[in-house]
Amino acid sequence: MNAQILSEETRERDKIARLSRSLHERGLTAGSSGNISVRLSGGEGWLLTPTNSCLGELDPARLSRLDWQGRLLAGDPPSKEAFLHRSMYEARPKAGAIVHLHSTHAAAVSCLAGLDPADCIPPLTPYFVMKIGRLPLVPYHRPGDRALGEVIRGLADRHGAVLLANHGPVVSGSDLQGAIYAAEELEETARIFLLLRGAPVNRLTTAQIEELMKPQT
Ligand code: ZN
Repeated sequence: MNAQILSEETRERDKIARLSRSLHERGLTAGSSGNISVRLSGGEGWLLTPTNSCLGELDPARLSRLDWQGRLLAGDPPSKEAFLHRSMYEARPKAGAIVHLHSTHAAAVSCLAGLDPADCIPPLTPYFVMKIGRLPLVPYHRPGDRALGEVIRGLADRHGAVLLANHGPVVSGSDLQGAIYAAEELEETARIFLLLRGAPVNRLTTAQIEELMKPQT
């Protein structure tokens, strides 16, 4: 391992701890729920928050470093939800970071009956469309069920984020800050969606969504 890789890993470890604390302080994770990962460059594997850790009190030096077979290379034992992250990275080779939260409003939406499994939060704002797009709902699996990883792998090549039924969101980004911004946008839109339940709503139209998806000139 060369010095450049070491310093990248140290920087990423510090960033995971700092941004995780911010999520915790703002009420986006509670207790030991939620986990965050970052892909390291140069085939050096990936970093993940440890099992039973509180995102508000992470020690950067004790974050788990794993290889792509899921083996622990350094640090504390990883989150038991490591396979969710690994499945998403495998389907999205350009994803640099993944955030999985049990954030209240997104988790509340994930428990609603009658959601469209292909598009479970409607296109209410342009920000949600640009940062998340169509959000598929993954059917309920018991915690730790490896079959959940297979379902995520089947969706994540087309979707940067998925919502796990009766559980919470898994959101990827090109880097950690981007993944966190997208997870926050998802949480805020879930909140708006719940606030609007029962009210007539103007969704963005197909033409408005297509306009957002066009590259800016
Ligand atoms: Zn979870």
